[in-house]
Amino acid sequence: MSRVVVRYAPSPTGIPHIGNIRTALFNFLLAKNQNGQFILRIEDTDRKRFIPKSIPKIKESLLVLGLKWDGEEIYQSKRLNLYQEHLEILKKKQLTYNKEGAWYFKVEKSKKISWQDLLHGPINFSSDVIEDFVIVKSDGFPTYHFASVVDDHEMQVSHVMRGDEWISSTPKHLLLYQAFSWNPPKFIHLPPILGPDKKKLSKRQGARSVLEYIEDGYLPEALVNFLALLGWSPKGDRELFILDELIREFSLDRLNKNSPIFNIEKLNWFNKKYLQKYTSDELIKKIRNFSKLAKTVNDQHLVKISRLVCDRLTTLADFDSIASIFFEKGKEKPPQKSKIENARKAIESIITWDEYSIGQVLDEWIASNHFESSDFKNTLRLSVFADNTPPIYQSLAVLSKEEVINRIDDAIKKAK
Ligand code: GLU
Repeated sequence: MSRVVVRYAPSPTGIPHIGNIRTALFNFLLAKNQNGQFILRIEDTDRKRFIPKSIPKIKESLLVLGLKWDGEEIYQSKRLNLYQEHLEILKKKQLTYNKEGAWYFKVEKSKKISWQDLLHGPINFSSDVIEDFVIVKSDGFPTYHFASVVDDHEMQVSHVMRGDEWISSTPKHLLLYQAFSWNPPKFIHLPPILGPDKKKLSKRQGARSVLEYIEDGYLPEALVNFLALLGWSPKGDRELFILDELIREFSLDRLNKNSPIFNIEKLNWFNKKYLQKYTSDELIKKIRNFSKLAKTVNDQHLVKISRLVCDRLTTLADFDSIASIFFEKGKEKPPQKSKIENARKAIESIITWDEYSIGQVLDEWIASNHFESSDFKNTLRLSVFADNTPPIYQSLAVLSKEEVINRIDDAIKKAK
C-alpha cells in the first residue's frame, strides 16, 4: 500500500456516540497498522448546527481511549480561502451557477458513476438520480460535500472510511473529483452498529458517548476492545486485545459487511476481564476515582478490600455497593447473644491477625467446641458485616482485630 492517510471527520453538532468513535477507532487502527497518518478534521461549516462545546468532548472521547491524532486538529472554518479558491476553479470551468446567493455544482445527466468499495465491492449510480447541489452556501461557507472533497484531496487522504449512511453522498464526491481531474481516495463504508432488536441502536440500548461509559465505570481498555470487535474480527478465537495488539492485527480484509449487534453483556465481560488484570496499585487508583467509601481508608487497607471484591465488580462504579460491608457495621438482626459472646472469645484468642492465622484459630475453635461450622461463621458474619461477604476469614483480616471486637460488642448489645 502506498502511504496511508486517513481522517476522522466529525461534525461538531453534539457529543459523538460510540458508533462514531468506532469509526474513528477503525481509521486509527488502519493508519497505525500501516505507519500512516490519522487526521482529526472538525467539519464545522454548518453554522446553524454548530455546538462549540462538542469540540472538547470529541477530543476527550478520542484521547480517553488512546486515539491520539497526528498533528494539530484541523478546523474547516479556518480554511474558507482554500474552498473559495477551489470554487473559482470550478467557476472558470463553467461547472457552477449562482442561485439566491448560493453556488451550485452542475450535474451532467446520464453519466455512470461507480467505485469499488473496499468493503461492499462495486457500487454504481446513475447521475440521473443526482440533482445539482450546493457547494458554497450564501453565508460563504462550503457544504459538507465540497469541503470534504477539497480537504481529502489537499490532505492526500488515501482511504475514506466512514459510516454507510454516506454511500449516497459518494457519487456527488466522485463528480467533484472528476471536475477537478483528481484521483479519488479508496472508500470503505461501514455498516452501522445495531441494537439487539436489529434496528438502529437507540440511546437506551447503548448509543451513548464514550465519556458516559467512562463515567459509569467502564475502562478504556474494555471499550476499545469491545468496539474493535463490532464489525471487525481478528484471526483465530482470541478476544482480548489491547490497543497496541489491535494495531498489529488490524486489516481491512477482516472487516464485516454485516451490521454488528451491540451487546452490553459483552462489554461487561470485557470490563470484568480488564479489571481482573490490573495490579492492586492500578486497581485502587481507579477505584479512588469512583468511590466515596475509599476516601475513608488508606491505600494498604483499600488494596486488601479491593482484592476481595475485585471478582465481583463489573464496573468501577460497583465498588461502593459491593464493598460497603467493609465500611459499615452489621445492620441485620443480630444472632443469639450467647453465640456472639462465644464468637467474641474465639476472636480474642487470635494472636496473629492475618487471614491464615484467623482461619487456623477459628477452625480449631469450631472443631474443639463441636460447633457447626456454618452456624459459627454465620454468627460472625452477621455480627461484623452488613450482609453476605466474600469468604469470612479473608473479610475479617481486612479489618483490624480491634474493629472486629468493637463490632461484635455492638452486636452483643443489640442481641437478646
Ligand atoms: N462530517 C461527516 C460526519 O459527521 C463526515 C463524513 C465523512 O467521513 O465523510 O460524519
